[in-house]
Amino acid sequence: MISVDKSELIQLFDFPRKRILQSMEVTHCPHAVFFNAADEECICCHQGEECIWINQNDEMVALEKKSIEELKQQLLIAVDFVDSNLSPHHLSRRQCECDNCSWLKKVQAMLKE
Ligand SMILES: [Zn+2]
Repeated sequence: MISVDKSELIQLFDFPRKRILQSMEVTHCPHAVFFNAADEECICCHQGEECIWINQNDEMVALEKKSIEELKQQLLIAVDFVDSNLSPHHLSRRQCECDNCSWLKKVQAMLKE
């Protein structure tokens, strides 16, 4: 029994992908945001976590080959990123309709299923 549609989950990756790339200092990355686990610069980089996420979930990655569980896991990490970049006023306004808040609501509804 599959309660969640994979393609719907995959659609939810578009927003955090753009969001994280925007927030990252791509111009400071000597590797153009291609994470290299063997590179000391990557391991010590303060953008490491975002970078790993992007590399695991960018448009070139075949997300449809991942399991629903894996996709949900990755979305949860993305929720943390988006959430931690929001100013408190979004969180206190339950009816906030900005892109971030509506994305968060969609993901939370989806992950509950
Ligand atoms: Zn908001």
